[in-house]
Amino acid sequence: MDQVLSGVLVPLLWKHFNEQDQCLFLSRFGVLERCKELVEAGYDVRQPDKENVSLLHWAAINNRTEVVKYYMSKGAVIDQLGGDLNSTPLHWAIRQGHLSMVIQLLRYGADPSVSDGEGYRSLHLAILFQHMPIAAYLMAKGQEVDFPDSNGQTPLMLAAQKIIGPEPTNFLVKCNASVSAVDKVNRNSPLHCAVLAGNVDAAHILLEAGASVDSENANVCTQFTFSAALLGSVGAIADFNSESWLLKGLLLGAVIAVINLSAFEMATGFICFYELLAIFCLKQNVVLLAEAGCLDPRIFCTSCMMKKPMRANHCFSCDACVAKQDHHSIWINGCIGARNHHYFVLFLFSLCLIGAWMFYGCLVYWSKHCPLHYQEEGMWSALSALVGCSSWVLGIFCLAFFHTSWASILLALQLYQIAFYGLTTAERANLMLRQRKLPQTISLRQNPYNLGVVRNLLSFFQLRFCGLFKPVVVDWTKQYPPGREHMFSHPDIV
Ligand SMILES: [Zn+2]
Ligand SMILES: [Zn+2]
Repeated sequence: MDQVLSGVLVPLLWKHFNEQDQCLFLSRFGVLERCKELVEAGYDVRQPDKENVSLLHWAAINNRTEVVKYYMSKGAVIDQLGGDLNSTPLHWAIRQGHLSMVIQLLRYGADPSVSDGEGYRSLHLAILFQHMPIAAYLMAKGQEVDFPDSNGQTPLMLAAQKIIGPEPTNFLVKCNASVSAVDKVNRNSPLHCAVLAGNVDAAHILLEAGASVDSENANVCTQFTFSAALLGSVGAIADFNSESWLLKGLLLGAVIAVINLSAFEMATGFICFYELLAIFCLKQNVVLLAEAGCLDPRIFCTSCMMKKPMRANHCFSCDACVAKQDHHSIWINGCIGARNHHYFVLFLFSLCLIGAWMFYGCLVYWSKHCPLHYQEEGMWSALSALVGCSSWVLGIFCLAFFHTSWASILLALQLYQIAFYGLTTAERANLMLRQRKLPQTISLRQNPYNLGVVRNLLSFFQLRFCGLFKPVVVDWTKQYPPGREHMFSHPDIV
């Protein structure tokens, strides 16, 4: 689209544009040479258009790094406010999620603490538009995680109120955002915001992080009053949590009574030192990764704050990055990934075998103990005879039918995608989604992980047949995208 506009439409309409419109288009499409010509001829780069938007805004929102570099050399104002929302070029770049542009603008001295017309600062915008790599970078460059916007709201309050789902609340809590901060106007805490917005996921995360259910806002409503009125499920969590906090308090009291105070203080001092060191190292790593172009959500997990190995996905239920993740299974209440995928397939297989054996047992029982006259008396009387014969055996039969049905469908699906594609369920779903957006159809079999049916199966189950075959052994917890060296990792990959 950019090429069509800059290559075809603009030359056609060019003579109808005034000097300002010409500069605007050139900034937008990054035509550096023509921009230079107009500026050298006397056009002022600081001059805003009729909507009060500067050339730097247009270059920033379209991620034109070379054009920005040129405008800055010609005296553009880095924090110029403009547009309907009275925003800076940095605000525009953040809204669009251009991390490289954010890095560039900060290098030129852009101030991330400037508020836009709606009162949002840079970190608030990054959270609001869910650009977590940008938020991580802004914090690593010194933006306080609890710095309120002009409305007195911290980024965590904004996340709990405006973004339904666990992210970015989870991300901010992991970055040590305060769960007890309150805004100036209504004295709402992040938990008040989550409950008012009906954001169950965020409320759950905040309660787990120790948010108080007793704090009162300006309307003298506690979280619990709200939760009872609005969210029954959150209320239940709140109740459970207060009990667990009581237990934790008792335990802590017992520990403190036993430990010598001076030794305790020394230990606390060491812990604080190591925590500070870890935070410092993490910030350094985030800056390094961002500036090396590696702070991409596909290769960096902002929940675990670590670089993701190839084929890994973050699971919010397990709260961890899972190597070669297939899916999160409700049956085992855990993730299926590199280390347990083959066990899961064997589990499905054994479930199907047990189901078949139970069917056989039921049929043998009925044939011996329940004379059915299906041919003469019809299906309905045969069914009532089955119930009358033994309702317990019929119950077992139904249960076996239910479990064998889902297990056999899942087993067939698993074996099919393992053997014919060499892909996980998550990868296949992702590729199919992308395939729909492409004009031409591409075979899913043409992927780098497909080794052919036999080798796929041998490698998946690690079958050697006494040395006859040599399966491919890959540790997916340690594989990183080629060309980007492993800058730092984390031992908690599951
Ligand atoms: Zn993760
Ligand atoms: Zn999981």
